Amino acid sequence: MTKPQLVYTHRDWTEDASLENGNYYNRCCQCQQHFVGHKRRIICKTCSTQAKREWDALTPEQQTVQMEANVQRMAEFFRNR
Ligand SMILES: [Zn+2]
Repeated sequence: MTKPQLVYTHRDWTEDASLENGNYYNRCCQCQQHFVGHKRRIICKTCSTQAKREWDALTPEQQTVQMEANVQRMAEFFRNR
């Protein structure tokens, strides 16, 4: 019996493959597509790369505004728990 060959896509975190728990099938919280990676990953490589590209395109001032908005959103989220 041979092991089925895993065919990776651009959404998969191939660098996680050698890690313990690095070959889990996950669903991306951004695009809802399946991807392979560490069991703790919540976002596929495609969405992560896009988010990083968008973040890097912001000025430091825009990044600060974005971070403060995120902190505010988290505070509201946990206040309602
Ligand atoms: Zn995704």
